[in-house]
Amino acid sequence: MSTQVNPDTYYGPSFGALVESDPQIAELLVSELDRQRSGLQLIASENQTSPSVLAALGSTLSNKYAEGYPDKRYYGGCAEVDKVEKLAIERAKTLFGAEHANVQPHSGASANQAVYGAFAKPGDTIMGMSLDHGGHLTHGFKVSFSGKWFNAVHYGVSQETEHIDYDQVRALALEHRPKLIIAGGSAIPRAIDFAAFRAIADEVGAIFWVDAAHFIGLVAGKVLESPVDLADVVSFTTHKVLRGPRGGAIVCKAEHAAKIDRAVFPMMQGGPLMHAVAAKAVNFAECATPGYQAYARSVIENSQALAAGLAERGLRPITGGTDTHLSLHDLRGVGVTGADAELRCDAAGIVLNKNTIPFDPEKPNVASGVRVGTPSLTTQGMGVDQMDQVADLIHRAVTQTDGSADNATAQAIRGEVTDLLGAYPAYPTI
Ligand SMILES: *Cc1c(COP(=O)(O)O)cnc(C)c1O
Repeated sequence: MSTQVNPDTYYGPSFGALVESDPQIAELLVSELDRQRSGLQLIASENQTSPSVLAALGSTLSNKYAEGYPDKRYYGGCAEVDKVEKLAIERAKTLFGAEHANVQPHSGASANQAVYGAFAKPGDTIMGMSLDHGGHLTHGFKVSFSGKWFNAVHYGVSQETEHIDYDQVRALALEHRPKLIIAGGSAIPRAIDFAAFRAIADEVGAIFWVDAAHFIGLVAGKVLESPVDLADVVSFTTHKVLRGPRGGAIVCKAEHAAKIDRAVFPMMQGGPLMHAVAAKAVNFAECATPGYQAYARSVIENSQALAAGLAERGLRPITGGTDTHLSLHDLRGVGVTGADAELRCDAAGIVLNKNTIPFDPEKPNVASGVRVGTPSLTTQGMGVDQMDQVADLIHRAVTQTDGSADNATAQAIRGEVTDLLGAYPAYPTI
């Protein structure tokens, strides 16, 4: 592999061509980059992927039909994309110590659909965490296909500790005998006890599935326990802490490999997005470096510092803190709803989302909490020293502004956000 690639021959001209042919869209690409650069990005499920990942995403691999799997395609001309997908698979297996990997799911939800397709039939009972305690739509929520096609049973957290109630998980599993038991979600600040889930799944003969969409990057960075050895199957997204392209993937035990592959294609999907598969390969290699491991460690340190800074200011962290890249804060102590907090922060240049808290008295579109995550700020190079300032900015935006952009305090906060981002810019090399 000693090919000399001239960078100007491939990607160099592409943006210039777009500026010429479609200035309207070119302008919007630039204004969205400006938006990403000009606010404090605290959405826990977002990150800023590398220019190398972006290059693979913007490649002519998008043109190629490659239905099937390497060396078993339905189309000719797949020699080069076969090499790409084999690299992506090998890199995923090595990164996660997995027996099998499927890198074709278009997204986290598509990956999850395939897991259902592999192990369950419509009408079967499945069990996951309830959405309002931190689960995900695709874990049997009633408006999702998973809630419409399966008989979904939900566990939650203990009201006292706000940690997953493993006694409840076991009791519900024994009562309902689900085919699949799902661990994971989108607003769980704490490490999950995978061994406890494994034991419960074994007791009732269920498949143990971990949806690691949120935290898989912390597993890749070796700073959070891996579910890969304990679970039958692990699905995940590649665009959250992991910092790859928007997409999904599945790793599983060898005994489930054929089932998972058939469920991704042809059961759920058609042709894979080979440009995205290439970008996943680039990302998996990036994640295997000491630099990424240091990044993952810093994401958690920052998250813990931010949660503590918000706690000091009266924004109570659910469970008292965090083991991960995200924390969830109860705003009832400062008398502001999640929806108002989101609006006020937005007007002050701070991007975060309202979130229900366990046993929330408010409806989901109002909510009593906010969710904050540190993947993006950490990619921009911020460390624990900056997290106290970020906590202060959030606290002031939530408690001292009114949601309008011309509010004087909101303007002052926006000025401080701009100064902070000047020292820690997003995409400094573009
Ligand atoms: C984000 C997420 C998904 C869905 O991923 P998409 O790429 O948005 O489809 C699924 N499960 C969990 C737990 C998630 O956090």
